[in-house]
Amino acid sequence: MGREILITEEVEPPGSQTPLGTPEEFTEFVPSAPISHPTSKRSTAIVLQPARWMPRFAVSVRSRAFRRRFFPEASPVEWNDWRWQLSHRIVDMEGLDRVVRLSEDERGAILRHRGHLPLAITPYYAGLLEAGDPLQPLRRTVVPVSDEYVRAAGEAEDPLGEDGDSPVPGLVHRYPDRVLFLVTGFCSTHCRYCTRSRVVGHGGDYGLNRAQWERAIGYIEATPVVRDVLLSGGDPLTLSDEALDWLLSRLQRIPHVEFVRIGTKAPVVLPQRITPALTRMLKRYHPLWMSIHFTHPDELTPEASQACGRLADAGIPLGSQTVLLAGVNDDLETLRRLVHGLLRIRVKPYYLYQCDPIVGSSHFRTPVDRGLEIIRGLRGHTSGYAVPTYVIDAPGGGGKVPLLPDYAVGRDGDDLLLQNYHGNIYRYPDPMKEATTGNGTPLPGDLDNRSF
Ligand code: SF4
Repeated sequence: MGREILITEEVEPPGSQTPLGTPEEFTEFVPSAPISHPTSKRSTAIVLQPARWMPRFAVSVRSRAFRRRFFPEASPVEWNDWRWQLSHRIVDMEGLDRVVRLSEDERGAILRHRGHLPLAITPYYAGLLEAGDPLQPLRRTVVPVSDEYVRAAGEAEDPLGEDGDSPVPGLVHRYPDRVLFLVTGFCSTHCRYCTRSRVVGHGGDYGLNRAQWERAIGYIEATPVVRDVLLSGGDPLTLSDEALDWLLSRLQRIPHVEFVRIGTKAPVVLPQRITPALTRMLKRYHPLWMSIHFTHPDELTPEASQACGRLADAGIPLGSQTVLLAGVNDDLETLRRLVHGLLRIRVKPYYLYQCDPIVGSSHFRTPVDRGLEIIRGLRGHTSGYAVPTYVIDAPGGGGKVPLLPDYAVGRDGDDLLLQNYHGNIYRYPDPMKEATTGNGTPLPGDLDNRSF
């Protein structure tokens, strides 16, 4: 990976060098309805100003060649400007046809598409796609195919039943001590298996605005059991520095909110978003955690590595959430390369999700046994830090249920029989009878649950 890096001479795009002040000073920067993103070409004008310092952006050989071939009009400064990336997203067949050779199936699926989750790919991420291979894993995650129009049994628009657990629009309160705050319905790049496809890329209840944010914040303020707020969407890091600063400052003022998490795919699909100005602002809101949505080792580019490095240097603990996807990452070798690569860029593999049964996702879903086999192939064979927790988000609102291969394989009298990662059986003395203290008093706690 390192050999690929070109260090460019470009300065950080001037508009992203926002001076920071107190949270109050930025209240007026929170946009009124709707919360906008810099997607129109008009918003890309950059006024060059002298930069006081010169942060550098990593650009891979591949990205540079892609820019020169398909976006020759874009200067390196523009390419490294996340707002330029957003305003030049590929959103239709003509745009995509220019950079990859579309198959008939892809072409038909794009033309047929209406409604939720339209095509959207940043130029940066488009540069990672294989032009001649419709089965390339990254390409399968972002380019529609006709299988999306197959509705299989058990699929639903909102399989996790999030809307049923929303006390106010945009806020999901399912678990006792934490809430999910859907702060935007906007993503820079649309994943074809997105659990929130009902939210992403269109308005409805999720065309969020300041009044809706205020209602959600009001609910959190009035609910003292909430100690953990997860900002998600859509992708919160597609909001401006000012809007994020305002939001985080409001949450920081709530005494019972102990920490905030941000769920994002920006370091993967829009690494230019992770500017020094952003990380300087974010580090004012510790404890702040971040879950990054990585899918495949081919996403571990110099750009993504630098983005994660900047976040880690800002003291933000990073975890990766990966969805297990058929034909994309559902084999041990691919996931091994991913988890090892993640640790190298300071991201802890956190969750491996079984793909949720959203409408049109059957071509992405794998048997649960496949996921268990992969976990069995990782656990013990590599560092514990590299092994994510494999979970199914139980349809209907059951929450995350962890799945683990069965390593406790039986009992023999007072011995528990354990199978290690090589498949060898070991005994652990674990008497079934209730344990006692030295004077015969039962130990505290419910020991009945220790039977297998
Ligand atoms: S980044 Fe997340 S929310 Fe956005 S389209 Fe992908 S899966 Fe959906």
